[in-house]
Amino acid sequence: MKAVRIHQFGGPEVLTYEDAPDPQLRKDQVLVRVRACALNHLDVWVRKGLPGVKLPHILGSDVAGEVVESGEYISGFKPGQRVLLSPMHYCGHCAKCVAGVQNQCREFTVLGNSIDGGNCELIAVSPANVIPIPDTLDFNQAASVPLVFLTAWHMLVGRAGVRPGQTVLVLGASSGVGIAAIQIAKLFQCRVLTTAGDESKLEKARALGADFGINHYKQKISEDVRRITNKEGVDIVVEHVGSATWDESVRSLKSGGTLVTCGATTDPNVGIDLRHLFARQLSLLGSYMGTMGELHEVLGHVFAGRLKSVVDRVFPLRDLRSAHEHLEKSQMFGKIVVNL
Ligand SMILES: [Zn+2]
Repeated sequence: MKAVRIHQFGGPEVLTYEDAPDPQLRKDQVLVRVRACALNHLDVWVRKGLPGVKLPHILGSDVAGEVVESGEYISGFKPGQRVLLSPMHYCGHCAKCVAGVQNQCREFTVLGNSIDGGNCELIAVSPANVIPIPDTLDFNQAASVPLVFLTAWHMLVGRAGVRPGQTVLVLGASSGVGIAAIQIAKLFQCRVLTTAGDESKLEKARALGADFGINHYKQKISEDVRRITNKEGVDIVVEHVGSATWDESVRSLKSGGTLVTCGATTDPNVGIDLRHLFARQLSLLGSYMGTMGELHEVLGHVFAGRLKSVVDRVFPLRDLRSAHEHLEKSQMFGKIVVNL
């Protein structure tokens, strides 16, 4: 098959479009022909080098495609059936997995991180990770959903316990997690404040349902949050930026508020004044991907049209280097997708 592989860690130039061996379909797996694969910041980190990644390696966490064939032990799928793949890999039989918290499994990893991903023509996966999609969703839209919508759902619903009527600040409106979190918070009838670096992105965020847009280059986020919330602050901050926004995110919380973070696209080292933490009774929560139950829950809303993925730009797989360069410029609003 054709694939883009990396044989060493580095910049976009290490992404090599080439022939690679077809995956060997096990009796307990389903073989899927990849039609679209969305990019995430994880692709960049893996490309630059993460522990546990064996070379050569295929990147790509978010896959949509068609079933080619099922292994001998598998029934229930038809050749040609349109599906997306859960972006998670887990053992399926440990205490955490059987309790339904796959993202706490010791073998847990993300597709394309410690195992080969979807920047290729064919992929063999466990049937639990193969999820049929409705005809209303094209492959590019479907591939843009799993990782960021699952991440945002677990942050807001699983970890922060969002409730109707709360006020939520979503950092980075134009990011995949931002786009998902804005819509999920609105689904829970929250008041949503969000941030972006220019007016056109803020306009798109309002179109997704955000009630207030804050231009983080023109205004101090926490000062604008105080103004909008009548000095109260917000109940929940959805944080994924890191050191560039951390202090402003903490300052934006009301007393008893919750900050939930799923990552750091800027420096991951941040400071915290413990006097603020205890005196204002703040909760700081970490969040990593989500559970299979949560994935099915959020996909139900996507398939019903209540939540929508946003595709920024589509590249052919052979131009994956250009797609990575586009991602690293951070000029997009929504997902970058490669097509096969
Ligand atoms: Zn497990």
